[in-house]
Amino acid sequence: MAGKPMAALVGRPNVGKSTLFNRLVGGRVAVTHDIPGTTRDRLHGESFWNGVTFQVIDTGGIEVYQPAGSRDDSPLAEGSADFIDEIKEQAMIAIAGADVIILVVDAQSGVTAADEAIAEILRRSDKPALVAANKIDDRRHEQGVYDFYSLGLADVVGISAIHGLGVGDLLDAAVREMRHLAEDFDDEDEHLKIAIVGRPNAGKSTLLNKLAGEDRAIVSAVAGTTRDAIDTAITWFGEKITLIDTAGIRRKGRIQAGVEKFSVIRAMKAISRADLALLVIDAELGITEQDEHIAGYVIEEYKSLVIVVNKWDAVEKDAFTMVELTAKIRERLHFVRYAPIVFISALEGQRIHRVLEAANRGWEARFLRIPTAAVNRLMRAAIEKHPPHGKGTKRLKFFYAAQVRTNPPVILFHVNDPSQVHFTYKRYLENQFRAAYSFEGTPIRLSFRARDERRLSKADASH
Ligand code: GDP
Ligand code: GDP
Repeated sequence: MAGKPMAALVGRPNVGKSTLFNRLVGGRVAVTHDIPGTTRDRLHGESFWNGVTFQVIDTGGIEVYQPAGSRDDSPLAEGSADFIDEIKEQAMIAIAGADVIILVVDAQSGVTAADEAIAEILRRSDKPALVAANKIDDRRHEQGVYDFYSLGLADVVGISAIHGLGVGDLLDAAVREMRHLAEDFDDEDEHLKIAIVGRPNAGKSTLLNKLAGEDRAIVSAVAGTTRDAIDTAITWFGEKITLIDTAGIRRKGRIQAGVEKFSVIRAMKAISRADLALLVIDAELGITEQDEHIAGYVIEEYKSLVIVVNKWDAVEKDAFTMVELTAKIRERLHFVRYAPIVFISALEGQRIHRVLEAANRGWEARFLRIPTAAVNRLMRAAIEKHPPHGKGTKRLKFFYAAQVRTNPPVILFHVNDPSQVHFTYKRYLENQFRAAYSFEGTPIRLSFRARDERRLSKADASH
């Protein structure tokens, strides 16, 4: 089970971060049609270079700073204090979440005050940081690269994000910093790893402490200092479980919006290392858009999910409260109806055991293997009940299918033309499989591969 190291792009607006991001992740931005939040907000993706798979985050897509008391939507002027604060905040998010930071600068415009402000923060962190001197479209601009050595970061690579020049060198340098992490992840033995995620104050630390059976001190992170997620190993019925904690981020007052986004990035990092996420929701506040966002990310990464409604002790309830809140959660997280919901009080230790029971069922679901005969039986029954719509003369045809992987479960369908598989039909098939095998809390991946029709005429004739 490999988790993925993370590279973050930082830099002032218009230097080419999103252009570089698109070049790095290419088609690897997860394409999910029915998970809200994830299609709008393209700030993370995956890249692969020299044998290392890693995540890429564009911090330019993160809104971090809202000046106190102002709802002014006009863009912040370069050089203004607010502007510098915003990019500093993005740099801090990057330091906290990423393994290597790529400071993108505009080599055509030279070193700016904003570049210097970010570089200063990066220098003070212990994270490896590189400069991507962008917009080196031709030799004329090459000289501009050298100015950026003055920023004092480990390396400066001249690139043209638009034309793809120098991007290979940049990736070489970035991957050099991440390779050992990728290997560390690969070495991890196979046991359940759980990320505890959710909004600040939802009760993540309290839950972790209860699960770990001891009181652990919460380290408060002062702005600018960092603390990576802390892993706690516990034993549950003889099985090792690792809890990955993303809490402990306590930052002083004013940059509230930043704290929210900050916790999303931390959550993403933890989720990528985990098999399953506990999404902790504060029952007093109900489910929020950010919860939806995190849940979308969990599913997109094919991790399992348990929804934990915490602070149930603090809610004034009648016979309908639980049903109503469940309905609200189901509505908002409609793309993951198969995730179990448990109602607990972490503070009072009520029903804590349900959390690990549900997590364990999710873990088992990841290793469920449907025999090939059953996969094909289910597939045929599903097609018979509801055949795919034909488009023109080349109607979508299914030949056979098999479950080719576990953890996460992957079912591969051999079809005549994968491009004709509409996502609604894919979802229909998934639901048919879930009706037969619950795969509790666990996304299953349906994959479609083209198969040459002519070679199948014999097999086809046999049924
Ligand atoms: P971001 O705000 O940092 O994400 O910057 P964008 O990626 O949106 O790019 C800002 C502008 O710079 C756009 O007009 C891009 O087309 C342009 N740009 C990005 N990369 C390059 C490059 O390598 N060369 C040139 N000449 N322009 C670029
Ligand atoms: P985190 O930011 O998600 O790690 O949240 P904490 O675990 O630090 O909890 C935030 C606050 O909620 C603290 O004051 C906790 O005592 C309180 N809290 C946590 N769990 C519960 C619970 O089950 N019931 C009640 N009433 N309060 C809780």
